[in-house]
Amino acid sequence: MTTVLLKIESGATQSMPPEGFSSWLAFWEAQRGRRATECEAFGCDREVTEAGRVIKSGKEDGVYILPLCDRCSSQANTRIFKAWDKDLVMLNTDLEAVI
Ligand SMILES: [Zn+2]
Repeated sequence: MTTVLLKIESGATQSMPPEGFSSWLAFWEAQRGRRATECEAFGCDREVTEAGRVIKSGKEDGVYILPLCDRCSSQANTRIFKAWDKDLVMLNTDLEAVI
């Protein structure tokens, strides 16, 4: 399995989740077909609090969402962390509701 280096997208604005989903975390769970319980950042086993917006370090081909804990998701641009590539859900721009 492939791992990727990620960082939190800086200057991210909180956007509305896609229609039919109560949160981005619920959207991620629907895409992956499983519950998000543990933070997906390697070396961290804290409880998931939200779906963080992340970009790949050195290969910024888009924004992805990934279940993270409050600590990992608040480290914007200060830390690069590793996660499984398969756990990323790409954020398609037309999913984002216009506010
Ligand atoms: Zn974490």
